[in-house]
Formats: sequence, structure tokens, C-alpha cells
Amino acid sequence: MPTIDFDALDYRADQTFAAAHYTLRGDEKGWSVHRDGVALLELGPGYRLLRTRACGVCSTDLARHHLPFPLPQVIGHEVIATDDQGRRFVVEINASHHARGVASDCAFCRAGLPTHCPERLTLGIHGLPGGFGPWMLVPEHACLEVPANVPDSAAVLVEPFAAALHAVQTLAPRPGERIAVLGPRRLGMLVVAALAGVRAKGKRTGGDFRIAALARDPALLQLATTFGATETIQVDDTASALADQAFDCVIDTTGNPQALATAVRLARREVHVKSTHGQPSCGLSQLTGLVVDELALEAFPNKPDQALAGTAPWQRLRTGKNPRVAWLAQSPPPLSLLRTADLTRGPAARLLPSYTQARDGLPRADCAVAATAAEVDAAIRPIAGDEICLVRPRGSILILPNPAEPSPLLRAVAQRGLRLGSSRCGDFRQALDLLAGDAELQRIGERLVTHRFAAAELEAAFAMARSRGCIKAVVEHREAGGRA
Ligand SMILES: [Zn+2]
Ligand SMILES: [Zn+2]
Repeated sequence: MPTIDFDALDYRADQTFAAAHYTLRGDEKGWSVHRDGVALLELGPGYRLLRTRACGVCSTDLARHHLPFPLPQVIGHEVIATDDQGRRFVVEINASHHARGVASDCAFCRAGLPTHCPERLTLGIHGLPGGFGPWMLVPEHACLEVPANVPDSAAVLVEPFAAALHAVQTLAPRPGERIAVLGPRRLGMLVVAALAGVRAKGKRTGGDFRIAALARDPALLQLATTFGATETIQVDDTASALADQAFDCVIDTTGNPQALATAVRLARREVHVKSTHGQPSCGLSQLTGLVVDELALEAFPNKPDQALAGTAPWQRLRTGKNPRVAWLAQSPPPLSLLRTADLTRGPAARLLPSYTQARDGLPRADCAVAATAAEVDAAIRPIAGDEICLVRPRGSILILPNPAEPSPLLRAVAQRGLRLGSSRCGDFRQALDLLAGDAELQRIGERLVTHRFAAAELEAAFAMARSRGCIKAVVEHREAGGRA
């Protein structure tokens, strides 16, 4: 069975890089990873070895030291890789049971939520050595061959483009709406492109909406227009440019924790969060966990009849026989809800075991009800240091009105019905098919990738990616990086 040795740059908790020697060893039981001669990972079966060709630097990489996964690690997750015949692949990053093709009774993989498999590792983010190294072990069923007419420059953007498409589909713009993209840059520009694609389709069927790009840098606004923005607004520090602006939806792609408050102020229907910056924002500590689990914050419906109707959030989200509602708030639940839902009451950490042991549906609550930011944080991560959520992936936390709550986000949700949505990974097949069928879209990389670096220049690539002059930096593996 194969053994591969290579040197790669680890990313460390102090934000520096250091060379490490990796050995990937495969046998009939699966793969193991050693770093500097010490056992690091026993991966088991369902992985395949690919050589990295290129890997994009994204905001998640730049914020990696804030994320709750162990370091050091070889990071990088926006990859093109090749097999031993030189065929090119893009790789979905979640190494779930489903993506590995291994048998399991995992409720998440079986429910069609493999990107939320609780036992997954994630390429270049959690555990699995990523695309800033010359070789990768990737889930066997997560590799999609890149069509011949899609150039490397576009293929390297498939991971973030798929995520952008997923965000736009989750948001589902309605005819006549005005949608703002806050901070269009390496990810936000792809969100503008995805919105423009949906808008072009909608225009043919009678539904149209406006796409506004909001940024400080006029060059970015100019570029956003070429990606399909229908209007541009230059933002400055005084915020006066935004004083009389309002949008139906605001997609926050800034990666800046301060931007969420602006998005909340500007949006009427929904704020969609795409950033995993790992930092507190709008009074919430676990906002990145919310995005990782693709949760939403919604107002608790105040009409009693909604409590019984099939449109109530707990009915809409239900995965088992009865809706499972975790009531975290101090105030008592309405009687109508007690009659129609399986309701538990108490602090999130105490309720969690009763859900993780559930045998039908997903082993989580369908929704939680909270009145304070602390209760919302506890619903997202009930146990410190443990990446388990009380609420199921793509579920909701319903917010009760609370005049004493200081978070502008929670107040906007409870008082004026603003929804906070979030999304993470998208469908690679769909993104690749769109690229393969659109010659103009295939030039996306030529316009977005401003800087290229050799793999040995990773530190310089990160410094450049952080600078204002860079939109997208890509790291290329130009020379043979190991021996088989
Ligand atoms: Zn990324
Ligand atoms: Zn699974």
C-alpha cells in the first residue's frame, strides 16, 4: 500500500507558519497521518490520495486561529487536485460518513445532511491536512472531475462559488426586492455573481430584484458592477452614505464582526451571514457556530393560532413525530405550544442529553426559544469546548421580546420580525455545471484572482490576502512536492 512523505507549512495558533514533515500511510484498514514521526490521525477507510495543484486563500483561513479546531494544521480548503493520471478534481471539504462511503447509522448522513455529520473532519479546517500542502487525503465520494473547458483559474473558485450559490438560494430573493451585498470582495463578489445568475433567470419568468454592492473601495464597486450589481454605494466611516438607505435583505460577506450591526440596521426582511470569523458580534459569542450549523434567528410568533398552524416554525422544522421545542427562556411557554409540541424547559446544557439520545428524527431539538443573548449562545454551544448544538442543523432559535436585552440583533428579530439566516457549504455539482455551461462565467477567476504565490511563499500569500490591494490570492504547487 502507498506511503507518501512530504514537507508542508503548518499554520500555528500564534498565526505563524512552521515547516513539518508529514507521512501518509495507507493499508487495508484505511489511512494514517504522522507529523514529524508522531501519530496524528487514524482516518480509517473512505479516503483517496490526491496531489494538490492550487488552493485559494479565503477569509476563513485568515481567521483560522479564532476557530475552535486544533492547531497546528496544514490548512487550505479551496482546492484543485490531480490524480495519478493528471485528471483535475475539485473536492467537497466535509469528510462525512456519506462522503467517505462508509456504512454507519449516523442520523445526520441518513437525513441528507452529510455536511452536518457530527463525526466529520473538514479538509484544511478541522483535522485533515489541506491544500496548502502538496498532497491531500480527501473523502472518496467528494471529488468531482473538472470539465475540460473550465480553466484552473475558475475551478479554484468552485468551493466559495458553491457557497455563494447556496447563500443566494437560501435567501430566495423575491420580485421587487432590493438585496445588498455588504463588503463584496473575495466571497462577496461571488455572491454578487450568484445573485446576478438568479436574477437573469427570474427576469425571464417575470421576477426581478435589485442587487446593491456596498463597499469602501470604489475599485471594488466598479468590479461588482461587472459581476452583475445593479447599483453601487460607497460606504465611509461617517456612515452618512447609508443614513437614508434600506434594503429588504443584506448579505454580510465582510468577515468583519463590526459589520453585522450595520447589516441589522439596514435590513427589513433578512440578514444573511456568511462569515466564520470566530469572534463575538452584536452581543453573541457563538455567531460562528450559528453559521457552521446554518441556523436562523426568527421572532417567536406572537399570534396564538400560529402555534397550532403548520406554518409555525416548530411545525415547519420538525424532523420527528412531534415538533421538539427546547424552551430556554425564563417566561412560561403558551399553553397552545404545550399541547402541540414535545417541549422541554430548562438551561440548554441540562436539556442536551434528552435530545442527543432521541431515536427518531434528528437527535436535536427542532428549535429553541430564547429571550437573551446568553440563552442564544447556550442553544448554539451548550457545553464550552464541545462543538455540539442543542438545535438541529438548519433549525431556528426563536426570539421572545425582551425590553432589557441590549443586543440590537435580538431586538430587531423580536420587535420587527427581522430574520437572521446563515449558510456555509454549497453544492459543487451545481457550481461546476454552471461554470461549464457559461463561457463568460469561466472568466470569473481572471477577474477575481489578483495574486498568485508558490506554496513555499505561503506567509507572503497570507500577508497579501490581508491587504487592501488584494481581492483573491491563490497558492500554486508548481514543483513536485513529495515521493511516493
Ligand atoms: Zn473558504
Ligand atoms: Zn455522518
